[in-house]
Amino acid sequence: MTQENEPCSQEIRSLLHAASQPLILAHIRPDGDAIASVLGLGLALQNAGKKVQMVLVDAVPAEFKFLPGSELIHTQAEAGYDLAIAVDCSDQQRIGEAFADLKFDFNIDHHITNDQFACQNLVLPEQPATAAVLAQYLPEWGFPITPEIANVLLTGILTDTIGFRISNVSAGTLRLAANLIDNGANLTDLYEKALVSQSYSASQLWGFALSRLEKKGRLAWTSITLEDRKKAGYAGRDDADLTNVLSAIEEIDASILFNEQINCKIKVSWRSKPNIDVSKIAQRFGGGGHPPAAGAEINGSLEEVQNMVIEFTDSVLKKSKGEN
Ligand code: 5GP
Ligand code: MN
Repeated sequence: MTQENEPCSQEIRSLLHAASQPLILAHIRPDGDAIASVLGLGLALQNAGKKVQMVLVDAVPAEFKFLPGSELIHTQAEAGYDLAIAVDCSDQQRIGEAFADLKFDFNIDHHITNDQFACQNLVLPEQPATAAVLAQYLPEWGFPITPEIANVLLTGILTDTIGFRISNVSAGTLRLAANLIDNGANLTDLYEKALVSQSYSASQLWGFALSRLEKKGRLAWTSITLEDRKKAGYAGRDDADLTNVLSAIEEIDASILFNEQINCKIKVSWRSKPNIDVSKIAQRFGGGGHPPAAGAEINGSLEEVQNMVIEFTDSVLKKSKGEN
């Protein structure tokens, strides 16, 4: 525990023990870490005898339904909670319109762009996943890591680190993961379920989107259209992890995925190689994230948003190389 976080962490510990009906929320279009963080904390509090509400406004995507307790997550909250907690959210807008005015008692996160929207903010940007923050703190706060919680939290770490391969994975991350394995997490099983296996419709979606892959200089991009989603029969608004495929391209410094949403919005996802901070680019468009992986939701048509974002990102890449 860093000294800087000590007072906040002690305050959170007291709030957690005092609450009897906590509400836990994470962000829209939940990824593995968002789901794991809601479930990991939720199961720990439930095991301590509390009546817990776990809420994700966009529900748990089919590929994460294997997680123990995922059926306990709802898309709406009921009145009557006595503690409001946000996990894995860098800003309150990302939790969903229904919670835009809720006063959060605390927020547990790892995004460097976190705007500290809650009363207490435990934000550890050096951790590669919010699930890692919880793996560190739950035992310190007096909540045992059961095998179910261990499996859930290791899934969050595995997905946010893409299988331990992003640059802020440290020896400390591997120690936390080892501890989760000691507590009953099955690494091989989770790796297969959370990172390797995917549905046929997701594979088709990749195919449609990759057929439009483009590259200019050291930047590559493509899009997922609403039409692609329909043709592939792919349910859900997420990108089926296509961003990870783009980020693996050798000849580039950064990649962008444009994911067309309903309501004339485009979800934009940036990925970059070391030394290019895409979280700053995403912030310029009202989003956020981490230096190597960031996102934003931008109003406009696919064409408009693509032109604007590609031009700006390209100029940032050129500046970083000392070109004009
Ligand atoms: P992805 O592009 O895979 O959705 O997200 C990459 C990273 O950027 C994640 O850490 C995610 O939380 C963050 N991120 C994605 N979209 C947004 C957004 O619209 N706003 C903010 N603040 N962060 C985002
Ligand atoms: Mn995360």
